[in-house]
Amino acid sequence: MSDAAQRRDELKAVWEQASACQKCPQLAATRQTVVFGAGNADADLMFVGEAPGAREDERGLPFVGQAGRLLDQLLEEIGLARGDVFIANVLKCRPPGNRDPLPQEIDNCQNYLFRQLELIQPRVVCSLGNFATKLLRADPATGITRLHGREEIRTIGPRTLRLYPIFHPAAALYTPAMLETLRTDFKRLPELLALEPPAQPQPAEAEPVVPEPELVRDVVEEDPGAPAADPRLEDAQLGLF
Ligand code: URA
Repeated sequence: MSDAAQRRDELKAVWEQASACQKCPQLAATRQTVVFGAGNADADLMFVGEAPGAREDERGLPFVGQAGRLLDQLLEEIGLARGDVFIANVLKCRPPGNRDPLPQEIDNCQNYLFRQLELIQPRVVCSLGNFATKLLRADPATGITRLHGREEIRTIGPRTLRLYPIFHPAAALYTPAMLETLRTDFKRLPELLALEPPAQPQPAEAEPVVPEPELVRDVVEEDPGAPAADPRLEDAQLGLF
């Protein structure tokens, strides 16, 4: 099996795990679907938004509402389509009433995103707005207004990548000046994608970790209380990456 096919299979396994996630009791109780992310599982460019909204929660797909239409338009303007990129969010479940993600929810959910970055291996990651930018820079104090449009090389988990913070499309929907800034920042993406990929850290020569039997059981055991997956949705989502 090719490296890309193996990474895609592992991504599916993470999707399955996320689909049954109960770590945030309120989000698990109010969501309709877990919006894992969609696109090319071997993309050079990945976008990270904040959290699904009502439309995304209904359809199980990221950025399918108004902000998503703007994202599609901006992608088209630089000659790309959704199928060329991977789109994910900081949170995989919709916060009720579209409230902001809570720190505990971000904490609970962040490993799904970090695994996505590890398995998709994008060269450029575009963080959309404050929540994604603060998480991926591990710096809660510096906001998007200061950072947008300036790429930086960051090592996140085992991968080194170019992080490129830009405004969230939802913020630009009703503010023409912000839309122009977003468009200007977006237009630099082809240039960033054409750069040499950043050098990767050497894998640590660590002893292989043998999981304890207790931990192995935790991962494979099914939660008998978890709702049964809808096979139609499963088919649709598996076709997405
Ligand atoms: N806003 C986001 O941050 N993510 C979505 O998926 C939709 C809107």
